[in-house]
Amino acid sequence: MTTTTTLESRLAAVRQRITDAETRAGRPAGSVRLIAVSKTHPAEAIAEAYRLGQRDFGENYLQEALDKQAALDEPGIVWHFIGPIQSNKTRPIAEHFDWVHSVDRLKVAERLDAQRPADKPPLNICLQVNVSGEASKSGVDFAELPALAQSISGLPHLRLRGLMTIPAPTVDPAAQHAAFRALRQAMEDLALDDLDTLSMGMSDDLEVAVAEGATLVRIGTAIFGARARPLG
Ligand SMILES: *Cc1c(COP(=O)(O)O)cnc(C)c1O
Repeated sequence: MTTTTTLESRLAAVRQRITDAETRAGRPAGSVRLIAVSKTHPAEAIAEAYRLGQRDFGENYLQEALDKQAALDEPGIVWHFIGPIQSNKTRPIAEHFDWVHSVDRLKVAERLDAQRPADKPPLNICLQVNVSGEASKSGVDFAELPALAQSISGLPHLRLRGLMTIPAPTVDPAAQHAAFRALRQAMEDLALDDLDTLSMGMSDDLEVAVAEGATLVRIGTAIFGARARPLG
């Protein structure tokens, strides 16, 4: 079997998992958008997924992402930045991405807003929430989320779309459901207009995330295979 066949069959399998999860949840087919997380994989892998119809790609490491963007000239790719953000590296993110899922402080949002090029539409933003309460994890706490969301929703060059989370890894289905449900509840509690996005679910827990209302799932390993570098 060639690499191409492997990527093709893996992508098809992920699409089927999403469709099955939508059906089980009583949600319309196509209500969950798939982001292919291509971090650590080469531009050729992105081009191959593109030929198979994939358009949304997620990247974690800024320089690696910029290198791959420069190597690709496929039209219509939607780029999602999903990794930790250093506040002195916001300009290339504002210039070269369509979505940022990992905003967790106002300073970063204000810089992205100021640096978003005037000829581009507002940058789509998800606030990363620390649902598991781990001290070491990035993401805003539930207690601080409403004030942060309120401030960011007023920034003219950003469009606050919703919330993102990476729960603490667990194989306990009840804990997986609880984490995703908490994110959905937090978004409902914000009661801001125009929030339409719950970015949650990865290779191992996408079914649970879709059951709890995910609108974007971020899938790496199940599409591109194992990464040589650890998750960052
Ligand atoms: C790496 C990564 C993913 C994809 O994880 P997989 O388990 O490989 O599907 C999703 N979201 C974020 C934020 C990531 O860093």
